[in-house]
Amino acid sequence: MIAAVLFDLDETLFARTLSLQRFLEDQLGKQYPDIFSNLENTVSRFLELDNRGMKPKDEVYQALLAEIGRNDQELVVELFDHYERNAWRFASGFDGVSDALNEIRELGAKIGIVTNGQTHIQLRSLLALNLDRMADEYVISEAVGLRKPDPKIFHLAAERLSVRVEDCVFIGDSPTADIVGAKQVGMKTIWFPNGAVWPHDLSVRADSEIRSLSELSAALHILA
Ligand SMILES: [Mg+2]
Repeated sequence: MIAAVLFDLDETLFARTLSLQRFLEDQLGKQYPDIFSNLENTVSRFLELDNRGMKPKDEVYQALLAEIGRNDQELVVELFDHYERNAWRFASGFDGVSDALNEIRELGAKIGIVTNGQTHIQLRSLLALNLDRMADEYVISEAVGLRKPDPKIFHLAAERLSVRVEDCVFIGDSPTADIVGAKQVGMKTIWFPNGAVWPHDLSVRADSEIRSLSELSAALHILA
């Protein structure tokens, strides 16, 4: 039985890299076109430094500017502030998000989102993708003071949805935060890599794996 399907947000429902890339093309190509000479190289270097969201964005801007010999703290603050105010405008979800969520509803299961990140940034992504309306509950790490893979955040999500952890399926791109995290509390897991790589030394495996959200419904039927 599947009582609830829980999702990670970044790179699972929210096409984070693609959205960030589109924002940067606007920011550094149109709003601040005179700082960097080669937009394409700058955007890919930004994404490299960002490391799938592991590095704070102000540090990424600082490093990027340092690489062209500009140690301009005011400009770092300006670019970072512009990012914080505007990045959400470029937010897009992966293909098939609403179909996948509707199919979960048809199964009679609840929908939750559990995301690591800053409240104001994650909330804007949720709102921009209309996910606040489509999900029954969302849990943002900063707001609750817990981060995946801490078992407590998975228990909290299940509790808020009024379901048992063993009746939940968790879908995410991160092998450690999402799959190991959800598995250790007894949830079933589906890995949706979106470019993530499974670490060689990780012996745990997800119960299932999908390459697009259109495969989700079939994967859930097998796990049910
Ligand atoms: Mg993620």
